[in-house]
Amino acid sequence: MNKKTVRDVDLKGKRVLMRADFNVPLKEGAITDDTRIRAALPTIEYILEQGASLILMSHLGRPKGQKLPELSLKPVAEHLGKLLEQPVKMAPDTVGDEVQAMAEALQPGEVLMLENTRFHAGEKKNTPEFAEQLAALGEIFVNDAFGTAHRAHASTEGVTKHLPAVAGFLIGKEIDFLGQATGEPGRPYVVILGGAKVSDKIGVIQNMLAKADKILIGGGMANTFFKAQGLEMGDSLVEDEVLPVAQELIEKSGDKLVLPVDAIVADAFADDAERKTVDVENVEIGWRILDIGPKTVALFKEILGTAKTVAWNGPMGVFEMPNFAKATFAIARALAELDAITIIGGGDSASAVKLAGVDDKVSHVSTGGGASLEFLEGKTLPGIEALEDK
Ligand code: ADP
Ligand code: MG
Repeated sequence: MNKKTVRDVDLKGKRVLMRADFNVPLKEGAITDDTRIRAALPTIEYILEQGASLILMSHLGRPKGQKLPELSLKPVAEHLGKLLEQPVKMAPDTVGDEVQAMAEALQPGEVLMLENTRFHAGEKKNTPEFAEQLAALGEIFVNDAFGTAHRAHASTEGVTKHLPAVAGFLIGKEIDFLGQATGEPGRPYVVILGGAKVSDKIGVIQNMLAKADKILIGGGMANTFFKAQGLEMGDSLVEDEVLPVAQELIEKSGDKLVLPVDAIVADAFADDAERKTVDVENVEIGWRILDIGPKTVALFKEILGTAKTVAWNGPMGVFEMPNFAKATFAIARALAELDAITIIGGGDSASAVKLAGVDDKVSHVSTGGGASLEFLEGKTLPGIEALEDK
């Protein structure tokens, strides 16, 4: 990675301002999944070990500039305190005189959590005033929030105008792996794309057509490609408005794009619907494609078997329904067994590999949904771009 990380700066005795992604799911004030908090621990622990004090900031939910008590970061501060086995002080606000005084009073090794950055409208608007107030709290800025790196907000981009800015370990790992998917992958390089809509992924397909050796298409997005080729798709999800784009992509792709040959169709959008396996030419009116079929899974596995690098974004079917999750899970298990670099991007894809029980058997599961997608599109992420070059 060409960006400086926490290892490239002297942190001893410094007040470090760190942007993390603590946007955790909450139910009645309790954290239901602490994955994102745990993901920040290596960077937090490293900073404290260096003899620095630490000021943490994050957004949580969508308070839209309002101070909503139910979106306070207090439960996160408490939970983090338990994981670190040391107290984490909670600031009464994100910025302001009282918070400034608390930050300045911190001793090396102590941790302060700021209130939800999105309690202030200046966060998303990235106002110079708010960015300056945040930056005044610390002496060095560390960004470890990959999930918001595609947004130029005050806490991700604005602060870098006022402080030396470096990456944490999580961002470092994301860039190392996703960089292989967009940079110089080991070949053959196979990309698997799925999910509901082609329109979400046109940028990814275009970028990957230039980089990958094969692009395997599954999920609902395959339907639009089929309809563009004149096939009957019954009641399947099809995006008529992008049919010309789909047509163009097929023409441009040569033999790079590999579409499914069979599918699981259902007579309703429900797990208990009647279902059957058909070739893609035989989808009848009244039926809809909810998963790719067994012949397609076998075909995809054969192509994957030769790969040295695989990037996967988008489930192969409606994996939220167990009867239409089979192909997604089969592909996840196939990736786990490959002797290749395997990279998973996208929020639903990440939960699919977790559900399949193979998230620790692939090389990398990205923590950023939208951010990983923009990375795969070849876009530069403002939160990373703004960090200092090595
Ligand atoms: P990611 O979050 O990994 O980028 P997407 O959000 O693009 O993935 O797509 C995930 C969604 O696609 C899931 O909710 C899944 O149910 C849906 N999906 C997959 N295949 C189909 C299909 N054949 N018909 C309708 N929806 C589908
Ligand atoms: Mg999604």
